[in-house]
Amino acid sequence: MIYEVFHTLEAMRQHRQALSGSVALVPTMGALHEGHLSLVKKAKSLADTVILSIFVNPLQFGPHEDFQKYPRDLESDLRKAAAVGVDCFFAPTTETMYPENFGCYVNPTYPMIERWEGQHRPGHFQGVATVVLKLFNVVRPTYAIFGLKDYQQLLLIRKMTSDLDVPVKVVAAPIVRDSDGLALSSRNSFLSSKDRALALGLYRSIQQAQQAILKENQTDLSLLTEQLHSRIAGEPNVKVDYVAFVDPDTLEPQAQFKNETLLILAVHVGTTRLIDNALISL
Ligand code: AMP
Repeated sequence: MIYEVFHTLEAMRQHRQALSGSVALVPTMGALHEGHLSLVKKAKSLADTVILSIFVNPLQFGPHEDFQKYPRDLESDLRKAAAVGVDCFFAPTTETMYPENFGCYVNPTYPMIERWEGQHRPGHFQGVATVVLKLFNVVRPTYAIFGLKDYQQLLLIRKMTSDLDVPVKVVAAPIVRDSDGLALSSRNSFLSSKDRALALGLYRSIQQAQQAILKENQTDLSLLTEQLHSRIAGEPNVKVDYVAFVDPDTLEPQAQFKNETLLILAVHVGTTRLIDNALISL
């Protein structure tokens, strides 16, 4: 099968100019799984043309993170995504995205950026905002689809597009999980079967929180946070970056449950860092 893949900004821009009708962009870093494909399906339901971008963005990885070993399999990605209806691909080279003398970055300063992923991955959101704005400028999508799996990223993109007047409709898609509850992630491929079992602790924490809040009417979120934290951190080979109940709009921590809360978690299982979240609401 022949796929239309553009590797330079110029080629992508030229192709985009010739398109009529609405365009939906699904930005990814590749190593596609059903979570990514669900975004494509959402995109197809909205727009005439679906463009999927694949770019492992060096700017959003810290110096000690897994940029080098991040899984890459372009051929398999193209096959999977074309099968669910992607019309063309934008797989830019690093040189075309960040040529020599590149020197302008989007610097988000929202209070929530100081927290959670922003705190544990300094510079991450500057890298995300910069690459996403560049993708938007090249593809000029009518819609852009992002997964709720990266909740904080989604909030950032919404705020950035609003503050910088980017004419795109940002659309959220739900988290896709494996049958055992583990949220799909390209990084799951790094997990040994032992680590995978430990990674399920994330989902068990979500279930425990739902049970405590919705069935047992527990409202003390500080106490529940401590319980979840000590249970997850008690597992061998697991290090917790954060477990928190937060306001879904501001990501400020919540001590008491009122009507809704967002449980957010980030842990290292061995050398693999995983995140998950769930909205818990009455
Ligand atoms: P990534 O390739 O990990 O940067 O992810 C690309 C897009 O896919 C982001 O908008 C993610 O939030 C989304 N995504 C990743 N995993 C999932 C999942 N399990 N369910 C839904 N969306 C996901």
